[in-house]
Amino acid sequence: MMQSPVEFFRNLPKKQCPECGQPFSEQAESYLIECQECTNKHINK
Ligand SMILES: [Zn+2]
Repeated sequence: MMQSPVEFFRNLPKKQCPECGQPFSEQAESYLIECQECTNKHINK
């Protein structure tokens, strides 16, 4: 059975934060590799 492209992308695993292990959805800032929370922690060092 053929899988539609939409279905394929829907099945892709979510991004996971390497810092806290939380899955998070990719935002417009796709260069982020950590979730918003951990990214803020690094910024507010
Ligand atoms: Zn995190």
